[in-house]
Amino acid sequence: MINKQERSLVLIKPDGVQRGLIGEIIKRYERSGLKLVGLKMILANEDQIERHYTVDPEWKQKTGQRFLESYRTKGIEPPTNEAEDLGEMVLSKLKKYMTSGPIIAMVFEGMNAVKIIRKITGATEPLSSDVGTIRGDFTLDSYEVADFDNRAVRNLIHASSSTWEADREIAIWFTSEELISYRLIGEAILYDVNLDGIIE
Ligand code: ADP
Ligand code: MG
Repeated sequence: MINKQERSLVLIKPDGVQRGLIGEIIKRYERSGLKLVGLKMILANEDQIERHYTVDPEWKQKTGQRFLESYRTKGIEPPTNEAEDLGEMVLSKLKKYMTSGPIIAMVFEGMNAVKIIRKITGATEPLSSDVGTIRGDFTLDSYEVADFDNRAVRNLIHASSSTWEADREIAIWFTSEELISYRLIGEAILYDVNLDGIIE
Protein backbone atom coordinates (compact mmCIF):
# COMPACT_ATOMS: atom_id res chain seq x y z
CA MET A 1 0.00 0.00 0.00
CA ILE A 2 1.23 3.48 -0.84
CA ASN A 3 1.51 5.68 2.21
CA LYS A 4 2.22 9.32 1.43
CA GLN A 5 2.33 10.04 5.18
CA GLU A 6 4.97 7.52 6.25
CA ARG A 7 6.93 8.65 9.33
CA SER A 8 10.55 8.14 10.37
CA LEU A 9 12.52 9.03 13.49
CA VAL A 10 15.82 10.89 13.30
CA LEU A 11 18.05 11.52 16.31
CA ILE A 12 20.98 13.91 16.00
CA LYS A 13 23.45 12.21 18.34
CA PRO A 14 25.59 14.15 20.86
CA ASP A 15 28.50 14.47 18.39
CA GLY A 16 26.21 16.10 15.81
CA VAL A 17 25.08 18.67 18.37
CA GLN A 18 28.65 19.30 19.57
CA ARG A 19 29.92 19.72 16.01
CA GLY A 20 27.42 22.51 15.33
CA LEU A 21 25.71 20.44 12.63
CA ILE A 22 22.08 20.66 13.79
CA GLY A 23 21.08 23.16 11.11
CA GLU A 24 23.05 21.45 8.34
CA ILE A 25 21.52 18.06 9.17
CA ILE A 26 17.94 19.35 9.34
CA LYS A 27 18.49 21.19 6.05
CA ARG A 28 19.51 18.01 4.24
CA TYR A 29 16.37 16.13 5.26
CA GLU A 30 14.07 19.11 4.88
CA ARG A 31 15.11 19.93 1.32
CA SER A 32 14.17 16.40 0.18
CA GLY A 33 10.52 17.44 0.47
CA LEU A 34 9.86 15.49 3.68
CA LYS A 35 7.88 17.40 6.29
CA LEU A 36 9.12 17.93 9.84
CA VAL A 37 6.23 17.05 12.18
CA GLY A 38 8.02 16.89 15.56
CA LEU A 39 11.23 18.32 17.01
CA LYS A 40 12.86 18.61 20.44
CA MET A 41 16.14 18.65 22.36
CA ILE A 42 16.55 15.93 24.98
CA LEU A 43 19.01 14.65 27.57
CA ALA A 44 18.38 10.93 27.19
CA ASN A 45 18.82 8.38 29.97
CA GLU A 46 20.25 4.87 29.60
CA ASP A 47 16.85 3.22 29.92
CA GLN A 48 15.51 5.18 26.94
CA ILE A 49 18.57 4.24 24.89
CA GLU A 50 18.13 0.56 25.75
CA ARG A 51 14.42 0.65 24.82
CA HIS A 52 15.22 2.52 21.62
CA TYR A 53 17.81 0.03 20.37
CA THR A 54 15.93 -3.09 21.44
CA VAL A 55 12.69 -2.12 19.70
CA ASP A 56 13.83 -4.75 17.19
CA PRO A 57 14.34 -7.90 19.29
CA GLU A 58 16.83 -9.12 16.67
CA TRP A 59 18.97 -5.98 16.86
CA LYS A 60 21.67 -7.39 19.18
CA GLN A 61 22.04 -10.50 17.06
CA LYS A 62 22.11 -8.58 13.75
CA THR A 63 24.49 -5.87 14.97
CA GLY A 64 26.80 -8.45 16.54
CA GLN A 65 26.74 -10.50 13.34
CA ARG A 66 27.69 -7.50 11.22
CA PHE A 67 30.45 -6.71 13.69
CA LEU A 68 31.77 -10.30 13.43
CA GLU A 69 31.77 -10.11 9.63
CA SER A 70 33.72 -6.85 9.64
CA TYR A 71 36.29 -8.42 12.01
CA ARG A 72 36.62 -11.42 9.72
CA THR A 73 37.08 -9.39 6.51
CA LYS A 74 39.77 -7.34 8.27
CA GLY A 75 41.43 -10.47 9.66
CA ILE A 76 41.10 -9.20 13.25
CA GLU A 77 40.31 -11.50 16.18
CA PRO A 78 36.89 -10.54 17.71
CA PRO A 79 36.62 -10.27 21.53
CA THR A 80 33.99 -13.05 21.36
CA ASN A 81 32.47 -15.17 18.59
CA GLU A 82 28.95 -14.86 20.02
CA ALA A 83 26.98 -12.33 17.93
CA GLU A 84 24.48 -11.72 20.76
CA ASP A 85 27.29 -10.88 23.23
CA LEU A 86 28.91 -8.52 20.74
CA GLY A 87 25.55 -6.82 20.22
CA GLU A 88 25.24 -6.40 24.00
CA MET A 89 28.69 -4.80 24.08
CA VAL A 90 27.69 -2.35 21.34
CA LEU A 91 24.53 -1.49 23.32
CA SER A 92 26.47 -0.64 26.47
CA LYS A 93 28.82 1.61 24.43
CA LEU A 94 25.79 3.26 22.86
CA LYS A 95 24.32 4.06 26.28
CA LYS A 96 27.48 5.93 27.19
CA TYR A 97 27.65 7.75 23.84
CA MET A 98 23.97 8.69 23.58
CA THR A 99 23.72 10.04 27.15
CA SER A 100 26.94 12.10 26.96
CA GLY A 101 25.16 15.31 25.91
CA PRO A 102 21.95 16.69 24.45
CA ILE A 103 20.43 15.07 21.39
CA ILE A 104 17.83 16.34 18.91
CA ALA A 105 14.83 14.11 18.21
CA MET A 106 12.81 14.67 15.04
CA VAL A 107 10.01 13.01 13.13
CA PHE A 108 9.78 13.48 9.37
CA GLU A 109 6.73 12.58 7.33
CA GLY A 110 6.20 11.87 3.65
CA MET A 111 6.32 9.32 0.87
CA ASN A 112 9.09 6.73 1.40
CA ALA A 113 10.26 8.68 4.48
CA VAL A 114 12.19 5.76 6.00
CA LYS A 115 14.17 4.87 2.88
CA ILE A 116 14.77 8.46 1.77
CA ILE A 117 16.13 9.34 5.21
CA ARG A 118 18.43 6.29 5.32
CA LYS A 119 19.75 7.25 1.87
CA ILE A 120 20.47 10.85 2.91
CA THR A 121 22.04 9.59 6.18
CA GLY A 122 24.45 7.08 4.62
CA ALA A 123 25.88 3.78 5.82
CA THR A 124 26.58 3.15 9.51
CA GLU A 125 30.39 3.35 9.33
CA PRO A 126 31.48 6.85 8.23
CA LEU A 127 34.66 5.40 6.69
CA SER A 128 32.56 3.54 4.15
CA SER A 129 29.46 5.72 3.85
CA ASP A 130 29.15 7.42 0.47
CA VAL A 131 30.26 10.97 -0.24
CA GLY A 132 27.14 13.14 -0.43
CA THR A 133 25.52 11.47 2.57
CA ILE A 134 25.57 13.16 5.98
CA ARG A 135 27.74 10.49 7.58
CA GLY A 136 30.04 10.41 4.54
CA ASP A 137 30.45 14.18 4.33
CA PHE A 138 30.75 15.33 7.93
CA THR A 139 32.62 12.74 9.90
CA LEU A 140 35.42 10.21 9.73
CA ASP A 141 35.04 7.41 12.27
CA SER A 142 35.58 3.71 11.58
CA TYR A 143 34.78 0.41 13.31
CA GLU A 144 38.51 -0.17 13.71
CA VAL A 145 39.25 3.06 15.58
CA ALA A 146 36.02 2.91 17.63
CA ASP A 147 36.92 -0.63 18.60
CA PHE A 148 40.48 0.28 19.47
CA ASP A 149 39.18 3.08 21.72
CA ASN A 150 36.43 0.78 23.07
CA ARG A 151 33.54 3.09 22.19
CA ALA A 152 30.55 3.33 19.85
CA VAL A 153 31.05 4.49 16.28
CA ARG A 154 30.37 8.23 16.21
CA ASN A 155 28.23 8.71 13.15
CA LEU A 156 26.15 11.81 14.00
CA ILE A 157 22.68 10.37 13.43
CA HIS A 158 20.19 7.66 14.18
CA ALA A 159 17.58 7.01 11.49
CA SER A 160 14.84 4.36 11.62
CA SER A 161 15.52 1.43 9.32
CA SER A 162 11.96 0.19 8.69
CA THR A 163 8.43 1.58 9.05
CA TRP A 164 7.77 -1.02 11.75
CA GLU A 165 10.80 0.17 13.70
CA ALA A 166 9.95 3.83 13.05
CA ASP A 167 6.48 3.53 14.62
CA ARG A 168 7.90 1.92 17.75
CA GLU A 169 10.87 4.28 18.04
CA ILE A 170 8.69 7.37 17.61
CA ALA A 171 6.53 6.17 20.53
CA ILE A 172 9.64 6.13 22.76
CA TRP A 173 10.55 9.76 22.10
CA PHE A 174 7.26 11.53 21.34
CA THR A 175 3.70 11.60 22.64
CA SER A 176 1.03 11.85 19.94
CA GLU A 177 0.28 15.47 21.03
CA GLU A 178 3.87 16.43 20.25
CA LEU A 179 3.49 15.42 16.60
CA ILE A 180 1.72 17.99 14.48
CA SER A 181 -0.47 17.24 11.46
CA TYR A 182 -0.40 20.16 9.08
CA ARG A 183 -0.21 20.93 5.39
CA LEU A 184 2.71 22.40 3.49
CA ILE A 185 1.74 24.40 0.42
CA GLY A 186 4.60 22.77 -1.54
CA GLU A 187 3.17 19.30 -1.03
CA ALA A 188 0.93 19.70 -4.07
CA ILE A 189 3.89 19.45 -6.46
CA LEU A 190 5.17 16.33 -4.67
CA TYR A 191 1.94 14.42 -4.29
CA ASP A 192 -0.99 15.71 -6.34
CA VAL A 193 -2.01 13.58 -9.31
CA ASN A 194 -2.98 16.54 -11.51
CA LEU A 195 -0.94 19.70 -11.71
CA ASP A 196 -3.87 22.00 -12.45
CA GLY A 197 -4.00 25.61 -11.40
CA ILE A 198 -0.34 26.51 -11.91
CA ILE A 199 -0.56 28.34 -15.25
CA GLU A 200 -2.75 31.46 -15.20
P1 ADP B 1 22.45 2.33 12.16
O1 ADP B 1 22.59 3.47 13.15
O2 ADP B 1 23.11 2.68 10.84
O3 ADP B 1 21.04 1.84 12.00
P2 ADP B 1 22.94 -0.03 13.79
O4 ADP B 1 21.50 -0.04 14.12
O5 ADP B 1 23.56 -1.29 13.29
O6 ADP B 1 23.31 1.12 12.73
O7 ADP B 1 23.79 0.37 15.07
C1 ADP B 1 23.38 1.42 15.90
C2 ADP B 1 24.56 2.31 16.26
O8 ADP B 1 25.49 1.57 17.05
C3 ADP B 1 25.37 2.80 15.07
O9 ADP B 1 24.81 3.96 14.48
C4 ADP B 1 26.70 3.09 15.71
O10 ADP B 1 26.72 4.33 16.41
C5 ADP B 1 26.81 1.97 16.75
N1 ADP B 1 27.50 0.78 16.26
C6 ADP B 1 27.00 -0.17 15.45
N2 ADP B 1 27.87 -1.16 15.23
C7 ADP B 1 28.96 -0.85 15.97
C8 ADP B 1 30.22 -1.47 16.19
N3 ADP B 1 30.51 -2.61 15.60
N4 ADP B 1 31.10 -0.86 17.00
C9 ADP B 1 30.80 0.31 17.60
N5 ADP B 1 29.64 0.95 17.44
C10 ADP B 1 28.73 0.39 16.64
MG1 MG C 1 19.73 0.82 13.34
